[in-house]
Amino acid sequence: MRYHCLPLWVILFIGFAAYSQTSFSNNPDSSVFLAAPGKLDISHLTGNFYIYTTYGMYKGTPVPANGMYLVTPQGAVMFDTPWDTTQFQPLLDSIMIRHHKKVIICIATHFHEDRTNGLEYYRRAGIKTYTTRQTDDSSRARNEKRAEFLIYKDTVFKVGQFSFETYYAGPGHTADNIVIWFEKEKILYGGCLVKSIEATDLGNLGDANVKEWGPTIVRIQTKCIDPEYIIPGHDAWNSKEALSHTLELINNYEHK
Ligand SMILES: [Zn+2]
Repeated sequence: MRYHCLPLWVILFIGFAAYSQTSFSNNPDSSVFLAAPGKLDISHLTGNFYIYTTYGMYKGTPVPANGMYLVTPQGAVMFDTPWDTTQFQPLLDSIMIRHHKKVIICIATHFHEDRTNGLEYYRRAGIKTYTTRQTDDSSRARNEKRAEFLIYKDTVFKVGQFSFETYYAGPGHTADNIVIWFEKEKILYGGCLVKSIEATDLGNLGDANVKEWGPTIVRIQTKCIDPEYIIPGHDAWNSKEALSHTLELINNYEHK
């Protein structure tokens, strides 16, 4: 058997799959690959951008939460952490196996656990973790996981040839929620401030400011012109109408 002719990645892939007993599959038709179906789903978005989804329990049913990562020559940049605490390391392993990159930066977009759960795990793994100072204040008050580094104002990050901006447009889902804007690639990473086209209501309003949410979305529409992709915190991310849909849901809520 000409075993030595197997490419290194195949050997690593087989080795890892055997080691972790995690099932991996590639589906070229949908460009979706499953790292552990139903626990950690990873989909190609565009170019070097990928969406990962883990699940948490909300009102007794499993709810998907979306995060994103960007692969650069310097390493991967993660936006938000898995909600599911069992998936912190599988996500790092999946990125290593598929892209041969370590994660070097992780930025959480508000203080809720579906964004921040993995911050301390990733900090211990040597990843530079970030939130805004406002998020950190809330995380400390609510006993959520905290980042190592704080962002004090809207900030442009440059990693390799990529550039993106953290943008605080105002309160909405929470007082501290930020979005991430990739002006060149026209990708708006909205987090839980932006509702999926699939959403039929505003979701968890425990920390929300519905009155300010609309003006906040309008400021995002004004700054982030013609996004090609809008990534909401939960559910489908296949619609460019997610911002206007969020405004509609806010409107419905205020007039019911
Ligand atoms: Zn959320």
